[in-house]
Amino acid sequence: MTLRPLALPCLAALLAGACAPGSPAAPAPVAAPAPAAAPVPPPPPIVPREAWGARPAAGPMRPHTISRITIHHTAGLQRPGRTLADKLRALQEFSQTRSPLGDGRIKEPWPDIPYHFYVDLEGQVAEARDVGYAGDSNTAYDPAGHLLIVLEGNFEDEFATAPQMEALRRLVVWAAARWGVPASRIGDHNDFAQTACPGRRLEPLLPGITQLVRGR
Ligand SMILES: [Zn+2]
Repeated sequence: MTLRPLALPCLAALLAGACAPGSPAAPAPVAAPAPAAAPVPPPPPIVPREAWGARPAAGPMRPHTISRITIHHTAGLQRPGRTLADKLRALQEFSQTRSPLGDGRIKEPWPDIPYHFYVDLEGQVAEARDVGYAGDSNTAYDPAGHLLIVLEGNFEDEFATAPQMEALRRLVVWAAARWGVPASRIGDHNDFAQTACPGRRLEPLLPGITQLVRGR
C-alpha cells in the first residue's frame, strides 16, 4: 500500500484551521510588497548617563514625541583639558541650579540638562536629558518635539573639530532614521528663537548634514 503524501500547502492550512480534509488547499493571499524602508544606521558610540555620573532629573519634565532635530552650541569655549564626564556634570550642575546667564539674566533651575545629546570637541557623544522628555531653553521657543543636540564650543568664535563634525553627522543621520524626522525638520536654534546659537562658524556646515539625511 502506498501512502499519499499530504500536500504541504494543505498541511499548513490545516494547522491554521482553514483546510477541511479532502478540500483543495485555499490559495494563499498575495500580499503587496511593502516599500523597502532604509534600515536605521548604527548610532555613534553614546556614553550613557550612568557612565558620566549623572544625577537624576530634579523635577517633573514634559513627555513629548520627537518630530524635529535642532542643533545648538554650548556658547562656552571648548575645554580640551577636561574629561567628558567633568563637562557633563558641570553642565548638569549649571542646569539644575539658579544660575546667571552671560547676558546678566538669571536662569531658574531646570530639572536636567536642557539638551538630549552632547558632542564634545573630541567627537565623544554623551546622553544628556532623557529623549522621552522635552528640553528647556532660556530663549522664547517651545522645545517640545525637538531632539536637542548641543556641540561643545562657541561657534561665533571657534570652529567645530573634524571628529566633532563626524560624530554630529552620525548622530543626526541615526536620529533622523530612528525617529522618522525628515530633512526639512532638521534645523538650528536660531530657526526658532532670537539667538546667535549655534554660531556663524557652525551654521554654514549644517546643510551638508541635512543633505546626508535627504540622500538616504
Ligand atoms: Zn541654542
